Amino acid sequence: MNSEEFRKRGREMVDYIADYMDTIENRRVTPAIEPGYLKDLVPLEAPQKGEDWDDIMKDVENKIMPGVTHWQHPRFHAYFPSGNSYPSILGDMLSDGIGCIGFSWAASPACTELETIVLDWLGKMVGLPEEFLSFSENSKGGGVIQGSASECVLVSLLAARAHMIRQLKKQHPFVEEGLLLSKMMAYCSKEAHSCVEKAAMMAFVKLRILEPDENQSLRGSTLQQVMEEDRAMGLIPFYVETTLGTTSCCSFDNLAEIGPVCEEYGVWLHVDGAYAGNSFICPELRAPMKGIEYASSFNFNPNKFMLTNFDCSLMWVKDRFRLTQALVVDPLYLQHSYSEKSIDYRHWGIPLSRRFRALKLWFVIRSFGVEGLQKYIREHCRLAQRFEVHVRKDSRFEVASPVHLGLVCFRLRGSNQINQKLLSSINASGKLHMVPASLNDKYVIRFCVCAQNATDADIDHAWDVISQFATDMQDIINDEIVDNKEATKDEKEEAEKEAEENAEEVFAMLDRKNKKSLRYKRSFFVRMVSDPKIYNPKIVRSLPSSGPRRHTTSETTTDENNVCVNSPTIDHEIITELMQTTNLEKALKDEDNKLKFLTKTTSDLSERIKMYGRREGEIKH
Ligand code: PLP
Repeated sequence: MNSEEFRKRGREMVDYIADYMDTIENRRVTPAIEPGYLKDLVPLEAPQKGEDWDDIMKDVENKIMPGVTHWQHPRFHAYFPSGNSYPSILGDMLSDGIGCIGFSWAASPACTELETIVLDWLGKMVGLPEEFLSFSENSKGGGVIQGSASECVLVSLLAARAHMIRQLKKQHPFVEEGLLLSKMMAYCSKEAHSCVEKAAMMAFVKLRILEPDENQSLRGSTLQQVMEEDRAMGLIPFYVETTLGTTSCCSFDNLAEIGPVCEEYGVWLHVDGAYAGNSFICPELRAPMKGIEYASSFNFNPNKFMLTNFDCSLMWVKDRFRLTQALVVDPLYLQHSYSEKSIDYRHWGIPLSRRFRALKLWFVIRSFGVEGLQKYIREHCRLAQRFEVHVRKDSRFEVASPVHLGLVCFRLRGSNQINQKLLSSINASGKLHMVPASLNDKYVIRFCVCAQNATDADIDHAWDVISQFATDMQDIINDEIVDNKEATKDEKEEAEKEAEENAEEVFAMLDRKNKKSLRYKRSFFVRMVSDPKIYNPKIVRSLPSSGPRRHTTSETTTDENNVCVNSPTIDHEIITELMQTTNLEKALKDEDNKLKFLTKTTSDLSERIKMYGRREGEIKH
């Protein structure tokens, strides 16, 4: 393709994208295909010779689009929004055209400098303290663009880990890092995103997952209590992850309480505002940021709630040296003569190579202006409140948690199973797409305002679909059970109760009906494409609440179907016991002792795990 043809095809592509956006409503929101659909349509060997552009584009429409879930569709209400806007697309296009790799200032100065400037713009826009900004006086802080919130969490954890090990090494210069690491504890709420567990797993650190309060907010007193317990056992708290705007229900951890506890214990406090952080550009939505001055690092994703295309996750640190000390490697071929005077972002994250991502953000902020972006966020909040009014007006439903920003968690009053069925039927129809969450052991449906230009009519339409499905489902249940018109009120109530109890059978019958149609296949697909942690209510992050709730130290793994399950959860008592038996110094003095020690702790642990498995009936291995 030469530049002449690129001009022609480029214009066609812009038209294709604009047509796609303008007519997206005519498509199903989720695809009606089965796993493996594409390998029957696309050859399994690459073509030896270049193909005609028109043929490629025909295949886009005929083969690719049928398998796309349309995240920009006005009927898409799952997860959180996937940021998108024309200025952002054009910014990314230019970045691809320039094609530079900005790992250091010298590798492409504008790429680095624009990133620093735009991060300062945004830091000011959300009201971050000056210490987080690059250009404030005597600042040691600064911002960087990472690929995702998961990366921000991992990088902050690595920085905190390295910092604590350095501190401990000063006190215990002859103790091995591995041994120090084995005593270090990280903390987060049960409501934190699964990326925190993943980061802890990758960084090989113990993570204690804490119970939030009834509003799904982690409180300072909970944290203080467990840190005290841990310290008393000889463990070393070093990292706390908090969330402003949790994935399940957009709840906010109590930073104002947690911050001083972290300060007292000298631990790194990370604040993940992946979705909600964007809303802090509206001063009236900033209340949850109270206490942000205690944070060591903070992140949010304009690629969720600020009209900017993936990938664009912003991270600020108060002390950039603490971050880079964990990540610096400096081979000769990457060094340059300005490194003392400039930022090399390769030291701020995991990859070496970095795209010119600041361009799209710069385009977005300049095109919309701060006011335009505030208007967009406020409009999503207003639309969520409109949806909430619909739910509250219908006595069959309840709002499951306080409504924050563009997210409403709601449910049918009734069993988890009924709600599960309602959601899977709606998703299978392709008319709307939503995902569930588990709140206080209840299955709830998340309705998120996602489309950039969502309107009142879109919200009303979504509610019509939901309430019609609920009516249809209720009709089927009633048809099955309450056929007798002569029945008294008591008999009917009794029959309804029975219907709930017999729901299993009714649903099995519904499934049999559905299996005959494509709808079943679609629902299977929708289950497949969704994040199993969010979608599958059976996947819980803590032990089932039989008996008093305990704080747990957990690890996540996957079963043979690649579904996340809680691996044997090591509870508090076990840790205490292990710590008591762990007289390492003594044990390590001679080989015999070492062997005994290892055998004992391993067999104790596996006995406990087996016991748990039998008791809870959910441990897979
Ligand atoms: N943190 C929160 C609160 C989230 O809601 C999400 C995703 O929805 C993440 C982290 C992970 O985001 P990413 O996909 O950018 O890693």
